[in-house]
Amino acid sequence: RSGKAKYEIFDPSMGAEAHARLGLENDLRRAVGNGGAEFRVFYQPKVLLETGEIFGFEALLRWRHPERGVVGPDEFIPLAEETGLIVDLGRRVLREACRQAKTWQGEAAPGLVVGVNLSARQFQDPNLVGDVSAVLAETGLAPDSLVLEITESVVMDDAPVAAGTLAALKDLGLRIAVDDFGTGYSSLSYLKRFPVDYLKIDRSFVDRIEDSDVEAIVSAMIDLAAALGLRVIAEGVEEEGQRSRLETLGCELAQGFLFSKPLPALDAARLLRMRLAP
Ligand code: C2E
Ligand code: CA
Ligand code: CA
Ligand code: CA
Repeated sequence: RSGKAKYEIFDPSMGAEAHARLGLENDLRRAVGNGGAEFRVFYQPKVLLETGEIFGFEALLRWRHPERGVVGPDEFIPLAEETGLIVDLGRRVLREACRQAKTWQGEAAPGLVVGVNLSARQFQDPNLVGDVSAVLAETGLAPDSLVLEITESVVMDDAPVAAGTLAALKDLGLRIAVDDFGTGYSSLSYLKRFPVDYLKIDRSFVDRIEDSDVEAIVSAMIDLAAALGLRVIAEGVEEEGQRSRLETLGCELAQGFLFSKPLPALDAARLLRMRLAP
C-alpha cells in the first residue's frame, strides 16, 4: 500500500532482535545512500616496539547513528557484508584513508603506512583491483604505503581465485597483511604460496601471553614470520607486560590501547606530530 514494488515487513511474531536488525539494516541503507556523512574513519597507530615511533595507522570505520549513537563495526560490518553495501562503503574508506595518509606524509611523516581492512565480499568483488588502482592514482599515495588487511579465512575460502586477486593487487605495488592470524582454519602453507607481507597476531593470543603455552605459540609465530620474510604486528596490546614480552620475543610492530585507541583524524595527526606513541 505504501507504493509500487515496496514491501514493508511486519510480523508480530518476529523476535525483537530480528526487528532491531531490520531497523538497523534500513538505517544502514539510508546512511550509505545519503553520501556517507554519518561515517567516519578513525585511525589507530601501529607502533615500532623498539623505538616507540609511529610506523603507520590502521583505518577503522565508525558509524554515528542519529539515534543510537556510535554503532561499532562488529555490529554493522556483517550487515553491510550481507547486503553488499560494504563494497560502496569500503571504497569510501579506502579513498579517505589513502587521501589522509598522503596528507600526513606531506606534513609530518614521509614513510607513513596506512592499513585498510577488506572483508570477504570486497575481496570477491570483480572491480576490486580496478577500484584500488583508481584510488591510488586519484590520491597520489605511493602504492607501497598502502597495506590491505585480509583475514586468512577470506583468503582460504577460494584459494585459487584468491591467489589470482592477491597477485593482481601485489602487481599494483601495495602490501598485504594477514589479519587475525591464528584464528582461521590455518593451512600454514598459504603463507608461502600467497604474496603476503605482514602477519597480524590476533588479540586473543596477546591477551593470554602470560600463559607460557600461549607465549610459546606467539614466539613460534614470530619465528615463522621471520623465516618467511614477513613482518609481524601484534594486535590488542593493552598492558606494559604484554608489550615488553612481545619485544623480547622479537616482535617488530604492535597496536593496542596501551599506545592509543583508534582516534579521529585530527587527534591522530596531533599524535603523529609528536612522532612517538604515548
Ligand atoms: P580488526 O581489523 O581486527 O581491527 C582491530 C579491532 O580491535 C578494532 O575494533 C580495534 O578498535 C580493536 N582494538 C585495537 N586495540 C585494541 C586493544 O588493545 N584492546 C581491545 N580490546 N581491542 C582493540 P573495531 O574498530 O571495533 O573493528 C572491529 C572489526 O571491524 C575490525 O577488526 C575489522 O574486521 C572490521 N572493520 C573495521 N573497519 C572496517 C572497514 O573499514 N572495512 C572492513 N571491511 N572492516 C572493518
Ligand atoms: Ca585489521
Ligand atoms: Ca585483527
Ligand atoms: Ca577482527
